[in-house]
This record gives sequence, structure tokens and C-alpha cells, in this order.
Amino acid sequence: MQHHTPTHHLDPRSPLVLDTRDLPRRPGAMRVVARTVPAPDGLGLELVGVRPGADLVLDLRLESVSEGVLVSGTATGPVEGECGRCLRPISDTVEVPLQELYAYEHSTTDETTDEDEVGRLQGDLIDLEPALRDAVVLSLPNHPLCRDDCPGLCPECGVHRDDLPEGHTHEQGDPRWAALTEFKEE
Ligand SMILES: [Zn+2]
Ligand SMILES: [Zn+2]
Repeated sequence: MQHHTPTHHLDPRSPLVLDTRDLPRRPGAMRVVARTVPAPDGLGLELVGVRPGADLVLDLRLESVSEGVLVSGTATGPVEGECGRCLRPISDTVEVPLQELYAYEHSTTDETTDEDEVGRLQGDLIDLEPALRDAVVLSLPNHPLCRDDCPGLCPECGVHRDDLPEGHTHEQGDPRWAALTEFKEE
């Protein structure tokens, strides 16, 4: 067993820290946490994500289990980004499912698993941010599009294909070659 890395101190007033003091440590005990929090920095990918400070709605259930606290529910927030094909702005809403076990300190789970696999309670506190970050990033598209069939930009002139006439082309060569190209494309 490797030594536990010292955990950083959690601030119980931080919006993404859950306090379980009023949750009895008896399997089956349950508390509901519903709160709107400002989104933390860097919640997303390069092209798409939740703007820092935007309203993130947490709708969570904290449930005592024998080894710790199971947190499940959803986080819902506005997503902004750029279309990967045409660079037009995208705005959307994501609802991300969350389900994460946080083991009690010195429980069997605490002693036998790695912190990367199972989260830990720190005293009575849970740091929700890492799980939230993972869940949001997983839910976002790697290649965000303004719409599924976005035709993108003409690589020659950079104009959106929506704004160009059908069959728009910059090819000028011999018309016989053009005919041959068309033939090959079919
Ligand atoms: Zn697009
Ligand atoms: Zn063009």
C-alpha cells in the first residue's frame, strides 16, 4: 500500500464542498442537496465548456452506505463553445449524471483502494469538484457542432457553405477535367 498523499484542506463554505455532518452514518440514511453554484474555472474542453461563474444547478442525493457516502444526481448548466467546422458560437445546456462513492476515512474501502478509484470523505466533507469536472468533460462532445449536418466552411474562401450557392467551387481548369472529376466522385 502506498501512503496516502496528504489531502488539501476543504472549506465547508465552498459551494462544491458537501457537508455530511447532518447525515447519520447508518446505511440507508439520506439527504437531498439542491443548490445552484457558480461554475468553477476550466469546466470543459478547449472548444466547449461551462463558462466560469455560470449557474450550475446541483440536484443531488447523499446516501449513507456501509463504507461511506454515495452521491448521485445531476448537475445542469449552460454550455458555450464554438462549432468545430464553422466556428459559429454554440450555446446549449448539459445535464450531467453524477454517481460517486466517497469512502469514510479508515474504512476498509479507504484502506484497500486507491484515491483515484474511489473518492474519500475528509472528515465530514466531500469535495465534489473532481467528480463534477470528470462528469462534465465526459459529457461534452470532442468535436462540438452547431448542428449535426453543419456543412462547414469553404476551404478556399472561408465562407460558410450555408451562404454559398449550391455547387460553389473555385476550380477553374479545363471543363473536360471537371467532367472527369465529377465522374470520379460518383
Ligand atoms: Zn457549424
Ligand atoms: Zn469558396
